[in-house]
Amino acid sequence: MVAVPPTPAIDDPATPDPLGLPTSPDDPRIDVRRSRRRKRTVSARIEGDTVVVLMPAGLPRSQERRLISDMLGKLARSGRRRGTRASDAELMQRAKGLSREWLDGRAVPTSVRWVPAMTTRWASCTQASGEIRISEALRDVPPYVLDYVVLHELAHLVVPGGHPPEFWRVVRRFPRTERAMGYLEAYSRVLRPGAPGAPGAPGGESGEGPEGPGEGVGDLIDDGTA
Ligand SMILES: [Zn+2]
Repeated sequence: MVAVPPTPAIDDPATPDPLGLPTSPDDPRIDVRRSRRRKRTVSARIEGDTVVVLMPAGLPRSQERRLISDMLGKLARSGRRRGTRASDAELMQRAKGLSREWLDGRAVPTSVRWVPAMTTRWASCTQASGEIRISEALRDVPPYVLDYVVLHELAHLVVPGGHPPEFWRVVRRFPRTERAMGYLEAYSRVLRPGAPGAPGAPGGESGEGPEGPGEGVGDLIDDGTA
């Protein structure tokens, strides 16, 4: 006889939230703020460990509970519970937009997410699985630089085999490629002064690495050919 494991109950208030935030309307960390100026809209935001729910004053208690449950569910689904999650969702949106705009939608990543700052690379990509990882060191760069790095990784999903000329033809459809590469070259010197051939440095001294000519984004490509 085969034991059937219990199906996890998504809405079960007893299910611990992996992020440690409230899942039940009864959680003491839910701060309900009622406003007479609010008409019908209900919203919620995260403040530290607390979920602040803003709702119109004068609602029946039972309706409040239902609305709070709805908001908790929405927060969980929207991925806006923590900064990194929101940004991962945004990164994926960004990647989809870039793929549409510059790659005819041919790059279809399965995940695009921030990873803790890597020591020597801005980004990495696993072609077989379609996963793209972007270093948190790039959180504060100008949008066009982040666009370039994401597009660079997307291009690896389209053109296999590292950085052949065809790869760069694809990447350079993005008009600010050279400018972004220049930015990264300078930025890597700021972050890692004295590091020769730092990522983003075209023609850097360590140019001929196992990942190819270390040009452009200093990424780690796992295209299954190794
Ligand atoms: Zn690359």
